[in-house]
Amino acid sequence: MRPAAENMFNWSREDPSHLFYQTGGRRPFIARAEGVYIWDQQGRRFLDGSSGAMVSNIGHGNARVLEAMRAQMNATTFGYRLHFENEPAERLASVLSKLAPTGLDRVFFASGGSEAVESCIKLARQYAIAKGEPKRTQVISRFPSYHGSTFGALAVTGYAPLNDPFAPMIREMPKIPAPTAYLDRDNLSDEARGCRYADMLRDKIEETGPENVLAFIMEPVGGASTGALVAPDSYYQRIRDICDDYGVLLIYDEVMTGVGRTGTFLAAEHWGQSPDIIALSKGLGAGYVPLGAMIARRDIVDAVVSGGGFMHGYTYAGNPLACAAGLAVIQEIFDADLMANTAHIGALLKRRLEDLMTEFPFIGDVRGKGLLLAFELVADRETMTPLAKELNVFAKLVEYAYEEQLIIYSRRTRGGHEGDHFLICPPMVTNETHVDEIMEKLTKSLHRLAADLKLPVNG
Ligand code: PLP
Repeated sequence: MRPAAENMFNWSREDPSHLFYQTGGRRPFIARAEGVYIWDQQGRRFLDGSSGAMVSNIGHGNARVLEAMRAQMNATTFGYRLHFENEPAERLASVLSKLAPTGLDRVFFASGGSEAVESCIKLARQYAIAKGEPKRTQVISRFPSYHGSTFGALAVTGYAPLNDPFAPMIREMPKIPAPTAYLDRDNLSDEARGCRYADMLRDKIEETGPENVLAFIMEPVGGASTGALVAPDSYYQRIRDICDDYGVLLIYDEVMTGVGRTGTFLAAEHWGQSPDIIALSKGLGAGYVPLGAMIARRDIVDAVVSGGGFMHGYTYAGNPLACAAGLAVIQEIFDADLMANTAHIGALLKRRLEDLMTEFPFIGDVRGKGLLLAFELVADRETMTPLAKELNVFAKLVEYAYEEQLIIYSRRTRGGHEGDHFLICPPMVTNETHVDEIMEKLTKSLHRLAADLKLPVNG
């Protein structure tokens, strides 16, 4: 029976949780956060070595963003887009169009990464219809990959534990292997390997029937599913060329890589690439608000709009509060020169992680760009054989680090079945002292893991 209104809001920390996403053990309650640190209600301080889920790019509690949000809240928090235009949304769209590659200057807002990815796929589809190519329905993607949790985004995601329960309900989309060149033990040059992986897209388009292929979606630097996977340089332009050859749209999912995380505003800039459509989220709202965006080529949007309009939308799309926060996030990144810091600190942190390979022979690989970094643990570095999956190393090391008050993020590397990688992605405000602290806590955690599992450690 429903309690009386005066009892409805009674609650104690000791009550069992009603949130069923709290799997595993309970976590401490968060109290406050500032910069790279988060405090729990017991006063313990954690270093946020993964920016949450690679979200809090500019650090916690940024005064400029909070002030911009307060000012916007005092004016209005919501105005429905069909009833009013709002200045923060217009301003943010204007900034994003200037930061995107030439020709991509049409912006559509969402409230998260999955929503942004859904928007990209639907826009691509409506463009094909507008161009008189209605047979184009297939969106090729990579395995492993992660593009989101909604059905459309899941159809292009390649991570078995997330896909499997829903596979019978989803129209399966074609996949090509992610460019895991670091696992290859052949005699090819890096350049040849990059081309080999890219050519798998050509083969898949031919196999699917070029007339059926709508788009190819990829994370320019891999995220959770691959652990900061970077393809050989030759891969990127070759992929662009193949898409052009077949009239296939190239979608970059920059939900994790975008907004400065890799040291440039978009990861695409590292390779001078211009995709046709881009998805952004995480670092755009940066933990202050739920916010996502799609940036698309003007001619694609024009064709869809003149063909009757984009048949898609979200209630909170482009709401003034989220956009005011996103705008302040980008201003902060430029004013505080956080992308230069990300490139500098990212390179330092990567070197320090590589140094750990001497002490811990079970670190098989260190990879990534900027402050999107990861390392992978293996049973044998020569063959890159994963550690036995029953050991659950991906969960164990995270727990040891948590006990050291360092937060890191892990997933299974090899398609979600086995393999253990750990993302080290602190906020873009990380300094050299923070790097020392991360390394000290991480080294202790690795020693505890090695002692627990009897893994070899060098002097
Ligand atoms: N795309 C990529 C590359 C991601 O990393 C994520 C989330 O981790 C998503 C899409 C989905 O974003 P969200 O969880 O905000 O829906």
